[in-house]
Parts: sequence; structure tokens; C-alpha cells
Amino acid sequence: MDFWSFTVEASYFIAAVLFIMGLKRMGSPKTARGGIVWAGAGMVLATVVTLWHPAMEAGVGRYFLILLAIGIGGIGAWISGKRVQMTAMPQMVALYNGMGGGAAAAIALVEMYSGAAWTHGTTVLILAVAGAIIGAVSFSGSLVAWAKLEGVQKKTIRLPQQHLINGGVALAAVVLGVMIVMAESSAPVLVTLLLITTLVLGLVITNPIGGADMPVVISLYNALTGLAVAFEGFVLSNPAMIIAGTVVGSAGTLLTFLMANAMNRSITNVLFAGFGVDDGAEAEGPEGEMKSVEAFDASASFAYSDSLIIVPGYGLAVAQAQHKLWEFVQMLQKEHGVDVKFAIHPVAGRMPGHMNVLLAEAGVPYDMIYDLEDINAEFPTADAALVIGANDVVNPAARTDESSPIYGMPILDVDKAREVYVIKRGKGTGFSGVQNALFFGDNTRMIFGDAKQVCSDLAGGLKQL
Ligand code: NAP
Repeated sequence: MDFWSFTVEASYFIAAVLFIMGLKRMGSPKTARGGIVWAGAGMVLATVVTLWHPAMEAGVGRYFLILLAIGIGGIGAWISGKRVQMTAMPQMVALYNGMGGGAAAAIALVEMYSGAAWTHGTTVLILAVAGAIIGAVSFSGSLVAWAKLEGVQKKTIRLPQQHLINGGVALAAVVLGVMIVMAESSAPVLVTLLLITTLVLGLVITNPIGGADMPVVISLYNALTGLAVAFEGFVLSNPAMIIAGTVVGSAGTLLTFLMANAMNRSITNVLFAGFGVDDGAEAEGPEGEMKSVEAFDASASFAYSDSLIIVPGYGLAVAQAQHKLWEFVQMLQKEHGVDVKFAIHPVAGRMPGHMNVLLAEAGVPYDMIYDLEDINAEFPTADAALVIGANDVVNPAARTDESSPIYGMPILDVDKAREVYVIKRGKGTGFSGVQNALFFGDNTRMIFGDAKQVCSDLAGGLKQL
């Protein structure tokens, strides 16, 4: 091995180590920021080396076009990354994810249209075809996920015999893939048909899935994109792509299962049950009266409590109320000696870790934040629980009502606290569209209003005591 080849291979190895170490550091909020920088450095190294590699080997190098593409993509990503709201992060991930799947499929298409895929042997050809199928499905599926979360596609379209149609399109894709593998050399018509079929497959699979399940779907497509990239890494004999793709594939798979488990649902149920589909029907559920209280009155109850557990949810992110909330909590701690804890449900918000990120942004210390299994036993002895913009993750129907779509999902046992206060704007349901008996409980008081304004009023109430 000559010096340059050794340098290239060694750089890929270092890039792979940086990806894996970066991912490891992303496991804790304290080191996550650094983890992103490490993985990013690995990606820069792998990209620079890859640009250098073909030029060294074969004198290939359309550097102008490559740098132009990197420039346009880099600037676009920088601007959108800076501007994106926290609540819009899942759809941004969906979009970037789709681009990854599309890029993997594009590599496979170039290899197949040019005939190069047939020169590497049957195994690599099969990987190229599989990568094209998975990449194209992830691309169009992720675009649908983005459109749904962004509100561009408002209705969930469910065709009659949807599963039969999906099965038919999937079968057609597999048959075309087999025909390509069996072809002697480049088969442009078959490759074009495969591209169209797989793009349609991504659309028909994703369309019927309800908006509430989109984060799981995005994570699943993330895993598939990683797999497609790893397959194409074999086609291009590029170890960095193989390792990065495998890391993304396995991390995405784990995340998908973690989310499904946290909702006590199977992946099949997520993909085929149509959970959270907005069919325009009124939400059914418990009837009764919600008892409301003014923020100023509620703040007195909190001030005279010994212990308070706060449960944040998606509404906290919508209102961007984390800073005001932390201000109020600090007053409770310092001026009234209240023992305050935050309880985080694994699927609170719209992406894993959503609430942890919000609270970290406001400066809440990590030792005040508890996971569901660590805090649930404390609700029965807590003086008060304060739910801010959370709904499904505190719905007791998940424990008791077998007919409820969220039955079996582990929830935070807020209803067991002595007093429960819920901040939300109105009587709207959560993302699952299910009504919540907690809001009608004898020990529950609703503080209606935007979470940011209410937190500000709560702090104002404390000042007047
Ligand atoms: P949720 O069930 O969607 O409820 C959010 C509540 O916030 C709503 O009831 C809404 O009521 C209130 N709200 C909205 N804007 C507000 C504002 N500005 N101020 C005050 N309140 C506001 O949220 P969640 O309890 O966090 O549950 C998450 C849901 O997402 C679950 O169904 C979960 O399964 C699903 N999900 C999450 C993930 C994940 O990774 N996190 C993944 C897959 C699925 P009003 O309209 O009345 O204000």
C-alpha cells in the first residue's frame, strides 16, 4: 500500500472513530453538543478525503461542480438550521433524512445506468439494487412525513384496499429488482421503472399513517437511509460510507424501537393502524366539567406546597415557555423553599429528548430532571403536580380504558398527586385525538391560557404574596 492510499484509509478509520465517539457523547445532555461537533468533524474529514481519493487514483475531479454543490447545500443547511424553530425540528430531520435516502438511491442509479454495477459481481449488484429501493422509498416517504408535519398536507389519504395496493407496489419493486440483477448488463428501462415504482411505494406506505406517528416513521426512514448508504458504500468500496451508514442504521433502528416501546406499540401497529388519523370526528371521552382557576390563585397554592412535580409536554415547546417556567421555579425554590422536580415522559413533545433539550436551554440543572420510571412512585406523596402543555402522556385512560387507542402506553401518574394543575389554552385534545379524564378529576384545576403567559402570571402571583 503506497503512502497516499494508506493516508486515505487511515483518515476513513479516524472518521469512523469520530462518528462512533460522537454518537456516544450524544447519549447525555451534558456531552451532546460536543458529540455533534465530533461527528461533524468526522464527516468533514471523510468528505475531504473522498474528494481527494478519486483524483489521486484516476485523475477524476470535477471539483468545480462538486464544490458548487457543497456550497449550495452547505449554505442552505446553515440558514435553515439557524432559523428552524424547536417545534419544527422533526420535519427538518425528515427533510434531511429524505435527502440522505435520495443521495444513496442516486448513487445506485448512476452505477446502474452506467453499467458499472454489473462489473463488481452479483453480491454488490444485489446491494446496489437493494440500496436503490430502500433509498428511494426513504426519500419519497420522508417527503410525505415532512409535508404532514409542516401542515402542507393537511389530510391523511386512505385508499380502499390500501394494504393490498401497498403490497402490490412492493411486489412490483421486488420483481423489477430481481429482473435487474438477472440482466446481463445495464438495463435503463428496468432501472427507470424501478425508480418510479419505489418512489410511489414510499408515498403509498407513508400517506395513510397518522400524524401522531410521524416521529416514529421518520426514525424508521432514518434507519433505512443508513442501511441504503451502507449498501452503496459496498458498491463504491468506500469504508467511511459503510461505517457511517451502519451507525445511522443501527442507531435509527434502536430509536424506532425505543419510541414504539415507550408507547407500548409494535412497529407493525405504527405502520398499519392509522393511529391519530384526523377523520374530522369529535373526540369521544369522559364527560363532565373542567374546574378552572386563575394563575394568581394557583401560585399561592404552589408557594405553600412542600413538594411540586412539573410535567412538561408539547405545549411548552409551542409556547416557548421554558425560560418563564424556570424563572417561576427558581422563585418557588429560593423564596418559598419548595422541593421542585421535573418529570419527563420518553415521548413527551414531538421527538425523543424534546423536553430535555427545552429544559437544558432554559438552564434547568440535570439533577432536577427525572425519567418516568424514577419519578412515578413519587406522585402519590407530592403536594402538587403541574402539567404544562402535556396531554397524552398524562392520560389515565392509558392505564384503564382498553378501548382507548393509547391503552397500554406507560404514563406519568399525575392523577395520583394530592392537587393537579394543568396549563393549556383550551379544551383541545392531544396529538392522539383522545380526550383526557385527568382534566375532569376532582383534584384537578385547569389554568387556561398560553403556557408562556401563564408562567409569567404565576411568577407575578408569587411576587404579590
Ligand atoms: P400532546 O398530547 O400532543 O398534548 C399537547 C397539549 O398542549 C395539547 O393538549 C394542547 O392543548 C396543549 N398546548 C398546545 N399549545 C399550547 C400552548 N401554546 N400553551 C399551552 N398549552 C398548549 O403532547 P404530549 O403530552 O407531550 O404527548 C406527545 C404525543 O406525541 C403523544 O401522543 C406521543 O405518543 C406522540 N409522539 C411523540 C413522540 C416523541 O418522540 N416525543 C414520538 C411519536 C409520537 P390546547 O390546544 O388546549 O392548548
